[in-house]
Amino acid sequence: MDASRKAKALTFSYDDGVESDRKLVSILNKYGMKCTFNLNSGLMTRASNWNYNGLQVFHMNATEVGDLYAGHEIASHTLTHADLIYLDDDTVSNEILTDRKHLQSMFGQPIRGMAYPVGYYDERVEKIVGQCGIFYARTTVSTHSFGIPDDLLAYHPTCHHDDEDLFELAKRFLELETETPQVFYVWGHSYEFDGKKNWDRLERFCELMAGRQDIDYCTNSEALLRD
Ligand SMILES: [Zn+2]
Repeated sequence: MDASRKAKALTFSYDDGVESDRKLVSILNKYGMKCTFNLNSGLMTRASNWNYNGLQVFHMNATEVGDLYAGHEIASHTLTHADLIYLDDDTVSNEILTDRKHLQSMFGQPIRGMAYPVGYYDERVEKIVGQCGIFYARTTVSTHSFGIPDDLLAYHPTCHHDDEDLFELAKRFLELETETPQVFYVWGHSYEFDGKKNWDRLERFCELMAGRQDIDYCTNSEALLRD
């Protein structure tokens, strides 16, 4: 392992590129947290919106994103948030490669990861994702653990931010003594904090985890490229 890296890493993964990402980024930045934002370059417009818990959720206009995500990682969430399982091979590739190309040129950084829209994937999709040059792809299956799996193209996160065990897992991670790389990987959507009015949950979690000498605060790529 790179000597400058610590064995324990905390990383976040948030999907869809919606307007409440502004508040999410401001909280993460305040506590020195790093996140990976999974974006759909074909849906970066307020014309794409939906209702969640009585709240209208808007994708951000591409022209208004600016440097919001500076210091964080951008990853693919496919071009159109497609359910990849039902698409033919060429269309799956197009969803990933075209999104990647757009995001690379918009944000000027290599796009190396992705999150499966709605968490849907199967063996065929996973194989195509790998052929497209993506090295890790997140699912929505919680492991409640911190180990890094061999198969990064079906990367199961530690938990969603609303998981009832979030703070118990946080305690376990803080107390963990290890020399093997371990990752606490939290995922979600920023609009869920608005819809459930529980932004305080994120603040409490970040406050608890921040500023620890033995934890690296990093993006998904940084957390998974630690060996
Ligand atoms: Zn999504």
